[in-house]
Amino acid sequence: MNTKTRGASPPKPKSRAREESLRAFLRAKLLRHRQKLIANIARNLEATVNRPGWNAEDIGDMAVNSLETEKSLQIGTAASRAVAEIDRALRKIEDGSYGICEECGKRIPAARLRALPFAVLCRQCQEAAERSSEQEETEYLRDWEDTLFEDNDEGGVADHVKGSIRLSL
Ligand SMILES: [Zn+2]
Repeated sequence: MNTKTRGASPPKPKSRAREESLRAFLRAKLLRHRQKLIANIARNLEATVNRPGWNAEDIGDMAVNSLETEKSLQIGTAASRAVAEIDRALRKIEDGSYGICEECGKRIPAARLRALPFAVLCRQCQEAAERSSEQEETEYLRDWEDTLFEDNDEGGVADHVKGSIRLSL
């Protein structure tokens, strides 16, 4: 990976200060979003465990419950994946590799980082990667873009998670 980051030229002092404050801003955003996702996972798990009629005798209830449970688990998986993406970005902020494309080593433009603060690839490399990866991954990343920075946050987080499992349900 070191050979890949070598291409990036060191920023000038002025833009370095700007980048510092952008990083601090995005770090706070990521941490907030992470917290909400974790709370969402916890609530979701609790609801699954405490779902009434868990030991339903009626076969219809059982079918409904099992469908609900499956849905809950998928929401949990999607949310966990989102948390992993955020953690990856936070680690990069810590180790100084944040904002450098993992593929081509170029700097990722600030506008892109603001829209997708967990982005590890520049737009070109992302598009190339999406062309060669599964459709599900593409949809998942697109959902981030739509919902991450909605400021009616409760709904934003829920929609984000729901959106990323829509296809698999
Ligand atoms: Zn790139």
